[in-house]
Amino acid sequence: MAYATVNPASNTQIKVFESVSNDELDSAIERANTAYLGWRERPVEERAAAVARAGELMLERKDEFARTITLEMGKRFVEAQGEVDLSAAILKYYGQNGPGFLHGERIEERTGEAEIIYQPIGVLLGVEPWNFPLYQVVRFAAPNLVLGNTVLLKHANICPQNALLLSELFSDAGVPDGAYTNLFIEASQVAHAIEHPLVRGASLTGSEQAGASVGEIAGRNLKKVVLELGGNDPFIVLDAENLERTVRLATQGRLANTGQSCVAAKRFIVLEDVYDSFVAGLSQAFAGVTPGDPMDPATTLGPLSSERAAKDLMGQVKDAVDKGATVVVGGQRVDRAGAYVQATILADVTPQMRAYHEELFGPVAVVYKVKDEDAAVALANDSPYGLGGSVFCADEARAHRLAERIESGMVWINAPTGSSPELPFGGVKRSGFGRELSSHAIKEFANMKLIRTLPTGKGAPAKAAG
Ligand code: NAP
Repeated sequence: MAYATVNPASNTQIKVFESVSNDELDSAIERANTAYLGWRERPVEERAAAVARAGELMLERKDEFARTITLEMGKRFVEAQGEVDLSAAILKYYGQNGPGFLHGERIEERTGEAEIIYQPIGVLLGVEPWNFPLYQVVRFAAPNLVLGNTVLLKHANICPQNALLLSELFSDAGVPDGAYTNLFIEASQVAHAIEHPLVRGASLTGSEQAGASVGEIAGRNLKKVVLELGGNDPFIVLDAENLERTVRLATQGRLANTGQSCVAAKRFIVLEDVYDSFVAGLSQAFAGVTPGDPMDPATTLGPLSSERAAKDLMGQVKDAVDKGATVVVGGQRVDRAGAYVQATILADVTPQMRAYHEELFGPVAVVYKVKDEDAAVALANDSPYGLGGSVFCADEARAHRLAERIESGMVWINAPTGSSPELPFGGVKRSGFGRELSSHAIKEFANMKLIRTLPTGKGAPAKAAG
């Protein structure tokens, strides 16, 4: 399938872009390697300055970037502007702090000296999804460009114009030709890229299926891989303290980006004495959203990213309803053109239903009533995923104890899971492995090189090992 811009607010196709052949892919990899040989020799401050400059330029062109996001995947324009702000902040964060994160470390030695230095490893492939077309790319590209790696980027086939804007941005910011390359390749060509000897690692953000495939190919070829996959985050409510706020944040946590976030709150697990009032509040909020044109500021629920996504989600809802789930609110397509699904709440979901185990990537919440904290933890952990999660409780120490028991990479207390440049982002279980953002991400594809120096003439060399 070629790359195509299809506006999901109307399902009209706007523009098609052809994918490149494997020969052209090989040439791009070779150019990226040539660029790497020069890029890694530049002072880290120079590389960082180009990345920070990309952040500034992105803000200067904020509305153009935001409009392109809205056009290609339907994010409400106001949210798209927020994504531009966050993406620019990530670029600036690594531009400013990246060199400091790469300072070497000395290790105390009885004889001589030992130190760790952080060096790039070469050409990397990033495979990124459409749900945050800028943010997903920059959180991989920014730290790696500062480190000195070069980046080949295979974006999702529904957001080609976002992909082109990003490569233009890095070029305008002074990242040299070949150091950041957009690749219009099919998902089936990803294997060819990873197998190429000059590609040293790969990072994929996307579905479990794509992650398993990329992980398998990388493993066979002994390449480092980072996988940021799906989630089915629990949102646990322990008490009724400030319930209005909790309901507001639950609504936001589920419906932001029309529910298409890996760390969206997806399973609402509520202690029994709070359950009825929580569900009543959430139902009122979901019933009150306004679906519409994502460019219109009055719209509070945009379309899904594509007609296929809307159909897939409705298939999961239907499976649950057919097997006995209760639709508390919504449950239907919105009666207008475009990939719209009503804000929906499902109750009485059981392990026999897809909605219990699978990620619902859209505006569909599942509510569960539990009798106590142990039951909340057991239900939260009864998932193949382990990305984020949140706990709501006025007693922060109690919430913290519960947070420690949740099998996930991130837990937020009294807020839905979020993201910011300085916080490590990633999961456990089938949500993947490795971390993006923060000081940790810049070391994922670094050669953590040991240099040990012994004084000549005295002191015995370290025992041979390995
Ligand atoms: P997807 O189908 O896996 O697509 C993501 C990217 O992988 C796209 O570029 C896609 O290319 C490519 N791809 C698909 N199948 C592939 C394969 N077999 N081999 C190599 N590449 C392949 O994911 P999606 O459904 O669009 O995105 C939503 C998923 O991403 C959700 O599960 C969400 O939770 C997850 N996600 C995770 C995070 C995180 O940080 N953990 C963040 C955001 C989203 P094409 O577009 O050409 O098919």
